[in-house]
Amino acid sequence: MSKARERIEQIYQQVVRRNPGEIEFHQAVKEVIESLEPVLEKHPEYAEQKIIERICEPERQIIFRVPWQDDRGEVHINRGFRVCFNSALGPYKGGLRFHPSVYLGIVKFLGFEQIFKNAITGMPIGGAKGGADFDPKGKSDSEIMRFCQSFMIGLYQHLGEYTDVPAGDIGVGAREIGYLFGQYKRITNRYESGVITGKSPEWGGALVRREATGYGVVYFTEEMLKVRGESLEGKTCVVSGSGNVAIYAMEKLQALGAKVVACSDSNGFVYDEQGIDLQTVKNIKEVRRARISAYAQIHKRAKYFENGNIWTVPCQVALPCATQNELDERSARILVENGCIAVAEGANMPTTPGGVRVFQESGIAFGPGKAANAGGVATSALEMQQNASRDAWTFEHTERRLHEIMQNIHRDCYETAAEYGSPRNYVVGANIVGFKRVAQAMLAFGLI
Ligand code: NDP
Repeated sequence: MSKARERIEQIYQQVVRRNPGEIEFHQAVKEVIESLEPVLEKHPEYAEQKIIERICEPERQIIFRVPWQDDRGEVHINRGFRVCFNSALGPYKGGLRFHPSVYLGIVKFLGFEQIFKNAITGMPIGGAKGGADFDPKGKSDSEIMRFCQSFMIGLYQHLGEYTDVPAGDIGVGAREIGYLFGQYKRITNRYESGVITGKSPEWGGALVRREATGYGVVYFTEEMLKVRGESLEGKTCVVSGSGNVAIYAMEKLQALGAKVVACSDSNGFVYDEQGIDLQTVKNIKEVRRARISAYAQIHKRAKYFENGNIWTVPCQVALPCATQNELDERSARILVENGCIAVAEGANMPTTPGGVRVFQESGIAFGPGKAANAGGVATSALEMQQNASRDAWTFEHTERRLHEIMQNIHRDCYETAAEYGSPRNYVVGANIVGFKRVAQAMLAFGLI
């Protein structure tokens, strides 16, 4: 074992010891630092200054009580989190997730990933993540509003356009961002647009932010296919989830001539051989906030599979856009056996380590989330830019910027993977690009 390898193993063991039970965080750390062996060999100064050890420890972590009352007057207590991991490249930036599965380990895995993702975009933003173990499903608008207001009371003093800038994630969309921003404005007496992103374009949001993560994943996929002499035109695709990322990934896939035959939610998936009718999905999910099973009631040709495994549907391109660890080793094998040639992660860490191994051994194109889904946060940074200059760009201009950013991300990851001896391995490429940018800034700042 090389000295660098030994050191990485020690660092990982220390992370596991210091953060007991936080298995998603351990998984995210392992995935990144395992790629860094050739970097440590080339740059002994990173080891001397303990850059990896410092990156693995959040700069600050905030945990707070979120009390709220439901429509019947019953009192509920949730737990709010904000883990601010790294601010070497800019103010902390990363979304808020409202989902019953949220605990410190989930927030830390997401915040850790965010450091590198944000660095990969080339924009001046640090990494953070937050959220609450609150379940928005089945709640009325008033309940959501009261929860968001209470959440913001717990968090506002730690935020600021030059300090920490949250956004949405699972369970936090335009409606929640509105309530959160409204409460921040009220408490602080400041119309500080740049304090949160994902705002509605009517009051300071960027056009394309809603579409950005999904569109970006598809642009990244297009680039991966291009280097293999392929395109999306005529390809059969499967997209998991039916939330913000999934919907706009499907929209761009269809615009580029691909056929999406299946999508899902946490209860099951729908299969539509003629191609998913996106307007129906938008209506079910964005307007009615209902279940994806409703799709098969509207389109009789489609089939709904309760608790089914969406990855058993044969496709050439698969985009996991729902949640972490939703695509395991067995599903990865099924995809490869069925002729899949490209997988890009719209969600954060949706593929288990075993699944990633299968994709890499089979030689198919695999785009990890921290590169493939970085279009969302990149467009958030464009939103911050517009807020700072009190400007509002057109849809076309912003989408052009997003497209260029995704092409640059692909190129940087592709070239870096080759430079460090792992050609076409976007996992290695993404981890090294992100790490080196953060590490260089940390070295420049001294021991802080
Ligand atoms: P949404 O809340 O809009 O949608 C999430 C989708 O995933 C829903 O269809 C949901 O189904 C499904 N889902 C959530 N949890 C589970 C679960 N445990 N099992 C199965 N399905 C589940 O979230 P987003 O689309 O914003 O986020 C999706 C993923 O993309 C997340 O991993 C997020 O971190 C990542 N991401 C999001 C970005 C953004 O800009 N929004 C940016 C970069 C990454 P149901 O409604 O039944 O819960």
